[in-house]
Amino acid sequence: MKTTKFLIPTQKEVPNDAQIISHQLMIRAGLISKLASGLYSYLPMGVRVLRKVENIIRQEMNKSGAQEVLMPIVQPAELWQASGRWDKYGAELLRFTDRHQREFCLGPTHEEVITHLVAQYLRSYKQLPMNFYQIQTKFRDEIRPRFGVMRSREFIMKDAYSFHLDQASLQQTYEAMYQTYSNIFDRLGLDYRAVLADSGSIGGDTSHEFHVLAESGEDAICFSDGSNYAANIEKVAFPKQEKTCASTLTEERVPTKKKTSIKDVAKFLNVKELNCVKILIIKTKNSFKALALRGDHELNEIKVHNLFGDFEFATDSEIKNLDLKKGFIGIKDLNIDLIVDYSASVLCDFICGANEWDYHLTGVNWQGIEFVDADLRNAVEGDDSPDGKGKLMIKRGIEVGHIFQLGTKYSSAMKVNVIGESGKAVTTTMGCYGIGVTRIIAASIEQNYDDKGIIFPQAIAPFQIVIVPINYNKSTRVKALTDKLYQQFIEVGIEVLLDDRKERAGIMFADSELLGIPHRIVISDTHADNGNVEYKARNKTDKIQVKFDNTLSFIQSKLI
Ligand code: ATP
Ligand code: MG
Repeated sequence: MKTTKFLIPTQKEVPNDAQIISHQLMIRAGLISKLASGLYSYLPMGVRVLRKVENIIRQEMNKSGAQEVLMPIVQPAELWQASGRWDKYGAELLRFTDRHQREFCLGPTHEEVITHLVAQYLRSYKQLPMNFYQIQTKFRDEIRPRFGVMRSREFIMKDAYSFHLDQASLQQTYEAMYQTYSNIFDRLGLDYRAVLADSGSIGGDTSHEFHVLAESGEDAICFSDGSNYAANIEKVAFPKQEKTCASTLTEERVPTKKKTSIKDVAKFLNVKELNCVKILIIKTKNSFKALALRGDHELNEIKVHNLFGDFEFATDSEIKNLDLKKGFIGIKDLNIDLIVDYSASVLCDFICGANEWDYHLTGVNWQGIEFVDADLRNAVEGDDSPDGKGKLMIKRGIEVGHIFQLGTKYSSAMKVNVIGESGKAVTTTMGCYGIGVTRIIAASIEQNYDDKGIIFPQAIAPFQIVIVPINYNKSTRVKALTDKLYQQFIEVGIEVLLDDRKERAGIMFADSELLGIPHRIVISDTHADNGNVEYKARNKTDKIQVKFDNTLSFIQSKLI
């Protein structure tokens, strides 16, 4: 491919709305172009990368025995009504009506469609297990699309759905998918971890996420330093604790004028945040509830959701109507249920609001307070690992894959039954397995860049090698040598980009570095005088002189 015949709109300027490096570099390198919020077109260079990622995924999925299908993006409402998700899915589901006033949505995922599909064809236990996958566009009307293709509204996912006669068979395929995902992410050259995960609204109970480790990651991942325990912070469960302290102080009411946050109160009273208790008021379907946490801990909304279902934080006026003083709420005089996090419930002589404007209480204890204790909080660095081995460390991760054991939630709603060995109908049990294909490109860049641009791993680079000739359009010798080498590469199937533009060498070097092509050859009259070309790897600093006649074999040895 020659640069003059290929659209590579590189740019120096960092786009205003691009906060993270992968978004900046994907735009600057001309891989993607923004159409509207969360909607991106892939330019030719971007498509080359995308296809490489897809091909690795496809090869590994095929190797695992999964069968490729392709399902429509537009999905009829009836299927979503049958699974109960039409009402539950919320605003991420983009709904519309066709000319006959029939309701449809754009698929954010395909559980309903695949179960509807296979219900028509799976008849006997003899056909099972089967695993179907597709590489298809999804649409989720994300509340905050951001970071380019990392969290877009339209994106490409590899989604797979497996059907089984029993749990043992599901477990086997789940483990095979776990291994397939590891193979895929290894081949993609990603630094990743598989972690225990919450299954969220999709259903089921066993689930793992695959995270690419990167500072820009939106998820927090907890690892034990004493075992191989690893979990999304959402999923780290803490046990009930034993009280180890005894109360020694008497309760006192102290003025804390305008000190409404734990941070301010702790500073003002010269105590540690972990000696304070904070109260959050939530509204569940039927009632308001007060949640108590240690001052240095954060609420884990997933745990609260798992306990009480859908909930919202109470508004200022709702809190006022409950006769509570926001910023000064305590554990006393509450006329609503109080749920106390395990680690707050073992505190002694702590500080909390006095339920009175501008006052807190010190030396407070739980004696005489009616409450229920529960696991409500997020893990913090240094917590004991839930498996009892070691302490937790926390790192940031980008979720690139998610595998679930779904059970029969969709197969019973959509009646995916087969005739079992005994002749009786059996409802199949399901697994589902997703990979964010387009997110992988961004995640890879987050791990592979420098101040000059992207450093693509060989497996997904848009081209394997770039030739930058100096004076290609003036020196007949440089042109002849360049064309010869270019032809040699093409003949052996090496993906080569020839920069044949009439640009300054500096611009061509900068573009090749921005694009992250792993190998670069420079051909100039000076090098030709010595019968050489100059070679540089994108991820190394040294430049190597290679004999012109040996260049092809030299590069071939680098591509293995
Ligand atoms: P997230 O928590 O990041 O929103 P999710 O749990 O909603 O992800 P899944 O439903 O498990 O995601 O989808 C499978 C994969 O699709 C995810 O692991 C992720 O890589 C990718 N994905 C999900 N939402 C987006 C998005 N808005 N843009 C790009 N990729 C996405
Ligand atoms: Mg999501």
